[in-house]
Amino acid sequence: MGMKEPYISCALAGGPGSLADSSRRDFLSAAAALLVGLGLPSTGVAGGGQHGAGGSGQRVVVVIFGGVRRAETFSPEGIENIPHLSGDMLRSALLFADIRNEGVTAHFNAISSILTGNWQRVDDWGKFAPATPTLFEFFRKQLRVAQSDTWMIASNKALTSLIGASSASQYGPSYGANVVFPKQLMVAAVVNALRAGRTGNLADRARIETELQAMLEAGNYEGLGWNVFDGVSNLDPRARSTIEAAISNFVRSGGPTSGDELTYLVSKEVMRKFSPRLLVIIFSDVEVAHFGSYALHVAGIRTGDRLAHQLWQDIETDPEYKGKTTMFILPEFGRDPDGSITNGFFNHRSDTESTRSTWMMTMGSAVEKPGLVERPIRHVDLCSTVAGLLGCRRIEAQGVPIAEVHV
Ligand SMILES: [Zn+2]
Repeated sequence: MGMKEPYISCALAGGPGSLADSSRRDFLSAAAALLVGLGLPSTGVAGGGQHGAGGSGQRVVVVIFGGVRRAETFSPEGIENIPHLSGDMLRSALLFADIRNEGVTAHFNAISSILTGNWQRVDDWGKFAPATPTLFEFFRKQLRVAQSDTWMIASNKALTSLIGASSASQYGPSYGANVVFPKQLMVAAVVNALRAGRTGNLADRARIETELQAMLEAGNYEGLGWNVFDGVSNLDPRARSTIEAAISNFVRSGGPTSGDELTYLVSKEVMRKFSPRLLVIIFSDVEVAHFGSYALHVAGIRTGDRLAHQLWQDIETDPEYKGKTTMFILPEFGRDPDGSITNGFFNHRSDTESTRSTWMMTMGSAVEKPGLVERPIRHVDLCSTVAGLLGCRRIEAQGVPIAEVHV
């Protein structure tokens, strides 16, 4: 862990402040529309309206932040960093005050544990799939649910596509989720374009721009490392010119922007096109902490707070989701305490309350009455809880359903 973690692109992000630049925002919106449909090895199926019949009709959106301490969030001094979560969202939410990661406090294992309901101890860098079935697999297998109904969209580069399905016999990738890493795809697109241009000179932006635009005009999105998905190859001319202008602006202004902002926009696009019944979103701007910038870490918390709020508003205004969706928001773990030998907020590997205990907010149809739940609940309890909401039969896992959450 530590500095070895591959957060280079995070560090290059330049912080959420750069999003004030509207050309970047335009680019991200345009890129999100294009990126939806990327990296979908077996989703030949069309969008919404083709949901399997099985299940409760309920939908679940799980939003997972990287490592975030209570000190910077739900605490008297931290609350200013989460104005949305602690403001209007809290008023209609169940707040679980002691959510515990009792497993490995590294990204791939933490998220695998949440998704499988068992404490996973596989490779920290995602070289191996979770050892027991994920929520996606339980849901898809038990209720004959289409892959287009289960998605994971993630900013965290410590994850790999193996996060979407386990190595368990009887389950595995044929029951897995669509897994998309928008930022990685976008960076790959630029790298591929550079290679195709045979320039290798990053400073040669004008040439890259010509290259990108030539590919767009030729309809050759694969040339950019972008697999095309049905609607995209028949772009409306206005959409095409918007994207061209956005790419041009983006290339001129240079550099990637907030990974979480792009992850949000892709998530929104996936919701609009596929209305998945189970959507897991991983935000990781906060992980810039590994590079030691407290200010950027806190800015990442603020971005997460804002994007979680926007997602909730999207849910509340989308007829496919409104009134039948439960949203969970939780960090993967905390971070190390100040003064620790592991450099405090930089890392998340100490066996302390600061690293193990965080919180979770639950909103929507499975919340009977807003309030505070103080008893300890484990990360592994979420899988059984969500499985229950989606209409699965009881699953085999270490975790147990959270009694306060039900429909
Ligand atoms: Zn980390």
